[in-house]
Amino acid sequence: MVSTVVDRRELDIIEKDVPLSGFTTWNVGGPARYFCQPESLDQLQKAIVFADEFDLDTIFLGNGSNLLVSDEGFDGLAVRLGPGFGDLENDGDRIRASAGTPLYKLADVSNKAGSSCFNFLTGIPGTVGGGLVMNAGAFGSEISDYLTEFSYLDPSGDVHEVSRKDVRFNYRSSPFQGCPDKIVLEAEFKLERGESQPDMSEILEQRREKFPYSKPSAGSVFKNPTEVDMTAGQLLDEVGAKGFSVGNAAVSHQHANFILNKGHATAKNIQKAIDILRDRVYKEFGVTLVTEIVVI
Ligand SMILES: Cc1cc2nc3c(=O)[nH]c(=O)nc-3n(C[C@H](O)[C@H](O)[C@H](O)COP(=O)(O)OP(=O)(O)OC[C@H]3O[C@@H](n4cnc5c(N)ncnc54)[C@H](O)[C@@H]3O)c2cc1C
Repeated sequence: MVSTVVDRRELDIIEKDVPLSGFTTWNVGGPARYFCQPESLDQLQKAIVFADEFDLDTIFLGNGSNLLVSDEGFDGLAVRLGPGFGDLENDGDRIRASAGTPLYKLADVSNKAGSSCFNFLTGIPGTVGGGLVMNAGAFGSEISDYLTEFSYLDPSGDVHEVSRKDVRFNYRSSPFQGCPDKIVLEAEFKLERGESQPDMSEILEQRREKFPYSKPSAGSVFKNPTEVDMTAGQLLDEVGAKGFSVGNAAVSHQHANFILNKGHATAKNIQKAIDILRDRVYKEFGVTLVTEIVVI
């Protein structure tokens, strides 16, 4: 339990009833009872103390590119790291990035330092914090492959430094998923030089051919299953998912694992589409698809 008393004047960054739809790439989500975008560790710690004092649940948002927030919103404090958490330092061998840094910046800066190891992140619209929590990846690489250490803030407002070797990451998962009270602050990565990944522009071109970028989405909805030798997209394609819709939530014709918001789709529409598609795949293949997106 945190004992520090927060001066009300210090809490002017906390707003009330802020719609979260503006902070998710699906453009859906109801209001957060409280919302803030801290610009410094001090402001973040005060927000955490505020949540603790008033016994509020917390959620942390990166770029909201893997989030489905319910239409009813969130009855607690939603914290989105502001631009003050976008610093990145590069000494030529290692990169230290604040959690709010966009993933493309990691790729861009590494490239300029002569390493293509982060090119796989090109076109993934997340932040370093969200990327770490989701263990973002593509083209056979994952962000945790290059992680050396990171720090997080606990609910008491204390900062912890963690070494990569003490933490287990798996395909699109990390120990931070399902831990809504720990916020990733910074991460350090090593720059591998022996790799030759395709150019960022080439990757972007490949991704544009494969994935729909013109309408709001949250990327792949389901993880690839391990029990069959087919991707989630292939299974969904086989059950005729492409073009299927619930309200304005429609499965992309380009990629069956993407549900698009074609305009004013609700979280309920998207959730219903997810449930129906999971059911279809189960009936046809006996495979229970697990969502990659995080539902709030
Ligand atoms: C068009 C498109 C393409 C995509 N392609 C890919 C792809 O190829 N590969 C891939 O892996 N993903 C992909 N994604 C999904 C998404 O971009 C990634 O999962 C990304 O890493 C999410 O980062 P974010 O900052 O948006 O996190 P959010 O979506 O904001 O959050 C995701 C989770 O992380 C938590 N979180 C966020 N920041 C923090 C923090 N600082 N501390 C603690 N918890 C935090 C949230 O609470 C939530 O549980 C795609 C998405 C889109 C829209």
